[in-house]
Amino acid sequence: MEPIKRQKKETDPIYTVMLIPHKGREPRSIHFRVSFLKKLGVVCGIVCLIGAGVVLKSSHTVYKAQQNEQELLSYRSEKAVQEEKIGKLLQENEAIEKEMAEISKLEEAVRRELGESGVQPSRSGIDRSQYLGQGGPQSAKVEAVDVYAAQNKVLQEKVKDRKATLSDLLGRLRELNQRKAAMPTLWPTSGGTITSYFGGRSDPFGNRSYDWHPGLDIANDYGAPVYASASGTIEEAGWVSGYGRYVRIQHGYGYETAYGHMSEIAVQSGQSVTKGEIIGYVGSTGYSTGPHVHFEVLVNGQVTDPLELVR
Ligand SMILES: [Zn+2]
Repeated sequence: MEPIKRQKKETDPIYTVMLIPHKGREPRSIHFRVSFLKKLGVVCGIVCLIGAGVVLKSSHTVYKAQQNEQELLSYRSEKAVQEEKIGKLLQENEAIEKEMAEISKLEEAVRRELGESGVQPSRSGIDRSQYLGQGGPQSAKVEAVDVYAAQNKVLQEKVKDRKATLSDLLGRLRELNQRKAAMPTLWPTSGGTITSYFGGRSDPFGNRSYDWHPGLDIANDYGAPVYASASGTIEEAGWVSGYGRYVRIQHGYGYETAYGHMSEIAVQSGQSVTKGEIIGYVGSTGYSTGPHVHFEVLVNGQVTDPLELVR
C-alpha cells in the first residue's frame, strides 16, 4: 500500500495557502490538492453555464414581454381606428334605413293608386318578423362589428324584400296597362251622331214590335273610317245577316267589340289590330235605314252599354 500512496502524493500534490492577518493574529493555512482545484473548476464552470443560461432566458422573456406590450399597444390603436370606421358604417346603415322607409312610403303610395290599401305581406317569402327592429341597451360583450353585421344582414333582407314587392307592383302595373289597352274606350268613328242607344227601343222600321238594341248606332258620312276601339285580334270579318258587313274584335281580358253595316271591310280574320286602326268604312249594309256604324261591346260574352266604356 505504501508505494501507491506515495505515487498519488506525487501526481496530486498538496498546496498550502497561508493567510497572514495583520495585528499579530495567528496565521491560517488552507491545504488543498490539485485534483480539488480541478473539481472546483468543473463545478464553477457548470454553475457559470447555468447562470448564463438563466440570464439569457430572463433577457429573452423580458424582450418577449416588451414585444407583446408593443403589439398590444399597436392592436389597441388599430382597434380604435377600426371601431371608428365601424361607427361610420353604422351611421351609414341608419341613413340607408331612412331611405328604405321612404321607399316603403312610395311603395304604399303606388299601392293606394292601384286601389290597394294597408301594409302588404312580404312578397319575397321572407318572414319580416325575423328582422324587424330588435335591440336594447348594448351589452358590453357585443362588439360594434357584430352590430354592424347584424344590421347589414337585416338591410340585405329588406332590400331583397323591396325588390320582390317592386317587381310584383311592376307586374301588376303591366297587367293593368294591358287590361287598359284591351278595354274598348275609343269612339269607333270620327264624330257622328248617336241615332240609337243601347237597350229597349221602338223598331226603327216602324213595326209595332218592341226592339231590344244590343249596341249603339252612330250615324256618319258614308265611307267615314271605322276604328278599332281597342287593340286586339280580328275574330270575324265578313257578311253577317242583319249586320251587313261586320267585324268582331277579340281584345282579351273578356272584352270584345263588333261593328256592323259597314260599306267596306279593311281587315281579315286572325289579323292583329291596334287601338285606332281603320277596320272598315261607314255604310248602310244589312238591316239599316242610313249610313251608320252599329257598335257593340261585349264583356265576358254579355252585351254591355258601350257608353259605359267609350269616351
Ligand atoms: Zn244598331
